[in-house]
Amino acid sequence: MEKEPILISACLLGLSCRYDGCGKTYAGIDGLQELCAMVPVCPEQMGGLSTPRTPAERRGNLVVTAAGTDVTEQYERGAEQTLKLAEQFGCRAALLKEKSPSCGCGRIYDGTFSGTLTGGDGVTARLLLEHGIEVFGENQLDRLKERLNGRKEERSE
Ligand code: SF4
Repeated sequence: MEKEPILISACLLGLSCRYDGCGKTYAGIDGLQELCAMVPVCPEQMGGLSTPRTPAERRGNLVVTAAGTDVTEQYERGAEQTLKLAEQFGCRAALLKEKSPSCGCGRIYDGTFSGTLTGGDGVTARLLLEHGIEVFGENQLDRLKERLNGRKEERSE
């Protein structure tokens, strides 16, 4: 039986696509490939930004760097490219990096570059949600696994 495709933030797989150019591993991701077919995305790179890059945060409908450069266009382009991949691969869910101005879902940095969190979604997470794609953060891995297992059982009935 074919595995369900899900989008995953490439940085959660340890790829060095983060703003600081570093790679980081996340516990719990390892077993995920047994449950689904992962489609890695990095919306910020796909929107045309370089790595490493100046960190940015959402400020209302805009995304700006700490120096005040408006990078909203690149973030929106990355979100659209990610949605396109989700549609091409038939993804119904995404596992995205929490707190990011692209990938964060539910809580993101507040635009003051002071490490303060506020309610809200990253640009990509928001677009995916608007298109009916469920978004999970890395701390919701267990919930995602339950969801994938449930759908696997439904498909095998
Ligand atoms: Fe790329 Fe999203 Fe990870 Fe940022 S959080 S490095 S945009 S995959």
